[in-house]
Formats: sequence, C-alpha cells, structure tokens
Amino acid sequence: MTVKAYGTRAADQPFEPMDIQRRAPGPHDVQIDIAYCGVCHSDLHTARSEWGGTLYPCIPGHEIVGQVSAVGAEVRDFKVGDTVGVGCMVDSCQHCSACAEGLEQFCENGFVGTYNGATKDAPGHTLGGYSQRVVVSDKFVLKIRHPREQLAAVAPLLCAGITTYSPLRHWKVGPGKKVGIVGIGGLGHMGVKLAHAMGAHTVAFTTSEGKRQDALDLGADEVVVSRNAEEMKRHAGTFDFILNTVAASHDLDAYTRLLRRDGTLVLVGVPEHPHPSPNVGNLIFKRAAIAGSIIGGIAETQEMLDFCADHGIVADIEMIKAQDIDAAYDRMVKGDVKYRFVIDNATIAG
Ligand code: NAP
Ligand code: ZN
Repeated sequence: MTVKAYGTRAADQPFEPMDIQRRAPGPHDVQIDIAYCGVCHSDLHTARSEWGGTLYPCIPGHEIVGQVSAVGAEVRDFKVGDTVGVGCMVDSCQHCSACAEGLEQFCENGFVGTYNGATKDAPGHTLGGYSQRVVVSDKFVLKIRHPREQLAAVAPLLCAGITTYSPLRHWKVGPGKKVGIVGIGGLGHMGVKLAHAMGAHTVAFTTSEGKRQDALDLGADEVVVSRNAEEMKRHAGTFDFILNTVAASHDLDAYTRLLRRDGTLVLVGVPEHPHPSPNVGNLIFKRAAIAGSIIGGIAETQEMLDFCADHGIVADIEMIKAQDIDAAYDRMVKGDVKYRFVIDNATIAG
C-alpha cells in the first residue's frame, strides 16, 4: 500500500514529502498507524550521512507510537486499536545466542534497524517513522500503558529512554551510587529522570549555562557546567558511573578523572569524528573502565516502558510539524532542544 512520508534524497538535500510502499501485513505482522515520531540525533547523523553508508531515499524515525490498524492471522498479543510503540529495531535473526537471551541489539547476524536496514521490502532498505504507517513483525512491537494524552511524550522513550535505561540497569545504578549524566539533550534528559527514579545521587553535566535550572527540575541533585574547570575539579575521583550522551567528539579525560576506583564511563553518543585518545593514567590507577552500550533488547524495552508508566515518566517534548524537520535538525546541532522534538504525524498529509 502507498503511504505518505517525509524523507531526504541526499545528505545535502532538505526533507520533502514522498510516497512510499508498505507491505501488506503477513501472518506475524502488525500494521501501525503512526500518531507521533520522536526526532533522535541518530536520525540527523543518518540523514546527513555523517556516519557514511546512508541509503537514499532516507526516511528516519525510530521513536514510533500509534494505534494498531491491522494484524496478521497468527498475531496473538496485539489487536486493532491497541496503543503500541516501535523503537530502533524491526527484526533480528532470532536464532543466535544474543537473540536467544533477548539481547536482539547484539544480534550476531546484525539487527535490522527501523531505517537504513536491509529488507526485502521496497526500496531494499527500511524506511522509518517519519511516515503515516508502518508494518512490523509482532516480536518488535511494544505495549504502551501510559494514559492516551501522554502518547506524544512517550515516543522518545522508544530510543532515548531505552538507550539510557539499559546501561543504568546493567551497571546497577541505584541508592548509594553517585551517577553523572553528560549532555542534557534527548538522551541525557531521560538519563537524569531515570537515574533519579532509580534512587541514585544524580549529577547533570551540561555545556549550556541556560540548562542549569532545567536539569534540577528534571531530577538532578547537582548540576555541573562542564566548561567551568573549577566546578569539574570539585567532583574529581567521586563517581561510580558516568553516562556520556554527547553527540560530538570531545576530551574524555575530563570525565575519567571524575571516576572513583572501579568506576565506569559509558559512552552512548556516536559522534561523526572520533574522540581524542583517552589518557591511560586516569584508568589504570583506579581500575576504571570506558565502556559502550547500544539501545536495549525488546524485553528490556518493555520493562523500561512499564517502569516509566509506573513512575509517571515521559519525555519533555516540543511538538513539530513534518514540514519543520530541517529547522529542528539545525536547532539540535546547536544543543537547542528542550528536550526532544516529536513530529505530529498527522501533519505528514500536508
Ligand atoms: P541531542 O538531543 O542533540 O543531545 C546531545 C547533547 O549533547 C546536546 O544537547 C548537548 O547538551 C550535548 N553536547 C555538548 N557538546 C555538543 C556538541 N558539540 N554537539 C552536539 N551536542 C553537544 O542528541 P541525542 O538524540 O540525545 O543523541 C546523543 C548521541 O547519542 C548522538 O550521537 C546519537 O546518535 C547517539 N545515540 C546513541 C544510541 C545508542 O544506542 N548508543 C541511541 C540513540 C542515540 P548540553 O547542552 O547539555 O551540553
Ligand atoms: Zn535514536
């Protein structure tokens, strides 16, 4: 079937309306009428081919929420009218050891991304949520239990939420732990809310003086403006865990210096250009670690959505029209988002 979408035809081209094809639902497929789609910095990296390898036309969007409008004959867990979400993955091999453990994000044969992933569907690569409708295997569809009026603000949980929740859980963040969240954008503002809800002493690191009060309102116990060397120094050697969400290359030593013995700095930001090589001294004298993490598995994504519903957590969003995607990207590059743009997909029809 033909549906309307917003996409780009080359790295240096603006977004434009497009007609795309979605497959008819197969026996295990769920067809979703998309209500809202969050705008992730990964969408920008991909649309502008900052990581290379972008296939065009490119239709990003992996923070999808909406209503089920059809299901295949074998689908048991979803029915027409259900409120559901789709995150960064729409498929994986389902037979490797990672998939068997519910860690589809580490699928040894490569998970299929919601956009720019390999598919038999036209045009040969997946097309994401900046569109009216999507058809997805039921294994990759999430249930949303938040109240209906919060739906737009739930969308960012599908990527920004799980990408911060998963490492916070894996590294056992909770009461008695001092936790830093670096970069108060889409991911970072969710990281602050989640670390706070998990009971950790949460410190927000921002380059933006203007986000100081906001970060406290989001749930941070303390805020550090990272450009201020004196403020940074006060926290040297005190952190159990630091989650770094910054979307640009920067000096990681500024953060490894803040770790205590056996502390971990986890990188989730994926900048276009590599970070300068870190200083080994900050690691060996404290047995400290630099690690990475990518999104989360489907079971953990459902756990995160349920945790957020139970704790009344949603993203802080600014709603935009599909026609405003380019302007939103330009603002995102400047760190000027409070704190996630979400597309009202009803505007895609024009
Ligand atoms: P975002 O909303 O643009 O937030 C990034 C924040 O980083 C900015 O708001 C800013 O916060 C800070 N920052 C500091 N210096 C910056 C600079 N020179 N350029 C850009 N940002 C700077 O981005 P996001 O959607 O949260 O994504 C962050 C990164 O995570 C991206 O690289 C994205 O591709 C990646 N990502 C990774 C995963 C994963 O699974 N690992 C998943 C999703 C996204 P302050 O103003 O507070 O300094
Ligand atoms: Zn994302």
